[in-house]
Amino acid sequence: MIWNLGSINADNFYLLPHLPGPGETISARNFRQGLGGKGANMSVAAARAGTRVMHVGALGADGGWALERLLEYGVETAHITLMEGVTGHANIAVDLEGENNIVIFPGTNHEITDEMIGAALSEASSGDWLLMQNETNGQRFAARTAKTLGLRLAYAAAPFDADAVTAILEQIDLLVLNEVEAAQLRAATGGELRQLPIDDIVVTLGAGGCEWVSNKAHLVESFPAYQVDAVDTTGAGDTFTGYLLAGLDRGMTMPQAIDLAMRAGALMVTRHGTADVIPDLKEIRDHDFRS
Ligand code: AMP
Repeated sequence: MIWNLGSINADNFYLLPHLPGPGETISARNFRQGLGGKGANMSVAAARAGTRVMHVGALGADGGWALERLLEYGVETAHITLMEGVTGHANIAVDLEGENNIVIFPGTNHEITDEMIGAALSEASSGDWLLMQNETNGQRFAARTAKTLGLRLAYAAAPFDADAVTAILEQIDLLVLNEVEAAQLRAATGGELRQLPIDDIVVTLGAGGCEWVSNKAHLVESFPAYQVDAVDTTGAGDTFTGYLLAGLDRGMTMPQAIDLAMRAGALMVTRHGTADVIPDLKEIRDHDFRS
């Protein structure tokens, strides 16, 4: 089972002819609102991949719809706290090539208390996964608690913050990074990924696929991406991570879980949107992938 200490956002999508420069005002061609946040995206992806996932997080009084949406998508919500304050939200601009830029207000994602995290993880079993990203508070406490309880810790270091990741480096079992985050981590630690005290590191490379650095097995393996026509890369990395962890939780080997995650990530870039359009296992099975 996966316990995901994660953000939940209202995503506001604007389809633009091009991304705005400083001082520029652009009229959007389309607008849509959906469920998002790296945490929620990963929970939905893991649930769609057929694994039990308990989301640990917080919503404002305006966030009841997000709770219902998560439930509808198969995510367990008993440890999402409804509180005063504003639910986190993201304004996402996407251009006609599928490139994006995003403004985020964390809201209640930064109001999670150690008590909430402790209460949730006290129900976890040894061998379960704790998944975290860097859009909530509480990561250091959660990482320490997870290790005390014998949980495995997966961390998606996004948005990247050198202090946040280095503070929990020793506790991470699986680290997922994109190419930019990997370069930032190398700069922050002054070394190579294979020198870090982390068993498994997966670096996603967009259309370039991904790389698995196994410090336990002393190997580095590259996986080419499946060929698709990309229209919107938003959420591909989150979908990849949710599927990767779900695969591992269900007993797959790392190469098997990476293959499943790359199929999910590839399908995801063919669609606009985030949590609401993450593919399920049947869609992935039915799709004719080109490698
Ligand atoms: P990213 O976060 O952009 O590195 O993407 C995460 C994963 O999604 C990658 O490792 C790929 O497996 C998949 N992916 C992302 N972009 C593409 C693309 N343009 N074509 C095929 N697969 C992609």
